[in-house]
Amino acid sequence: VKKAGITGYGFYHNQMNQAFPDKMIMETHLRRAIELDELSLHYQPQVDLNNGTITSIEALLRWNNRKFGSVPPSEFISIAEENGLIHPIGAWVIDQACLQLQRWALQGIGNIRVAVNISPKQFSQPDFDRVVSSALEKYGVDASLLEIEITESAMSNMNTTLNMLKKLKKIGVKISVDDFGTGYSSLNYLRLFPIDILKIDQSFVREIQSECKDAAITKTIIHLAHSLGLEVVAEGVEELAQVSFLRKEHCQKGQGYFFSKPLPSREMEKKLLNIG
Ligand code: C2E
Ligand code: CA
Ligand code: CA
Ligand code: CA
Repeated sequence: VKKAGITGYGFYHNQMNQAFPDKMIMETHLRRAIELDELSLHYQPQVDLNNGTITSIEALLRWNNRKFGSVPPSEFISIAEENGLIHPIGAWVIDQACLQLQRWALQGIGNIRVAVNISPKQFSQPDFDRVVSSALEKYGVDASLLEIEITESAMSNMNTTLNMLKKLKKIGVKISVDDFGTGYSSLNYLRLFPIDILKIDQSFVREIQSECKDAAITKTIIHLAHSLGLEVVAEGVEELAQVSFLRKEHCQKGQGYFFSKPLPSREMEKKLLNIG
């Protein structure tokens, strides 16, 4: 009886002190997330800072589990990367983004690009380009409307990265570097890789009005992008003062809560229809 009591106490104690569910339990649920229809994409606009129009949209993955509720991607993406689930989940994201592009095209919402986040694990798969091309074909989507967001950490092996980027460019999709400035060897790959867009990490944008260093880095990234003929997007724009700064520095695009938080597809669609 005494032993059972201790065990029982240990169990409750353990449960109550855990901020997040056990990784293994989470993994079990994540394994069934696609078939149980628990995943969805939310959409956040990227806005032209000169005229306020929406030019592209980033798709952000959401997982709503019936037991845990809404689990943030910062929690489950790393688990999916560890156990390989990132491959089916990543393919699902690309499929859904293309389906969305097809639906929007049918509603007359054309020329809006959708950007998807690609994990380094996914990007280093030798047949990753096939995942992309087959989704585009399946929904008859113009390749130039799909953007692949990769981080600097996806680019570690120069030869494999260059090969994959060449295959993707041949398909016709756009390539952006996400969280730009937070990794390393940036300048060398900018020279070597066929990249279209730099996304300035939100950690630089956050304090551009108050921190000289952040302002200097942001300006430098904008100028670097322009010198190389690349598009540039500032992430994490929350305030008008940031918009003013970015416009003064001729940054083309901004993304962040100032314009809109990520929205479910239906709500994003309403926004797009109001404009178009
Ligand atoms: P990220 O790609 O850098 O995405 C931007 C994150 O910043 C998103 O968080 C977005 O909701 C949030 N955000 C947007 N505007 C603002 C703002 O003005 N202020 C602040 N503080 N935050 C803002 P989210 O949706 O929680 O995603 C977190 C990360 O999870 C993403 O960072 C990305 O690395 C990853 N992720 C999301 N969806 C996917 C996916 O489909 N596949 C993969 N591999 N990773 C994903
Ligand atoms: Ca991103
Ligand atoms: Ca980012
Ligand atoms: Ca990030």
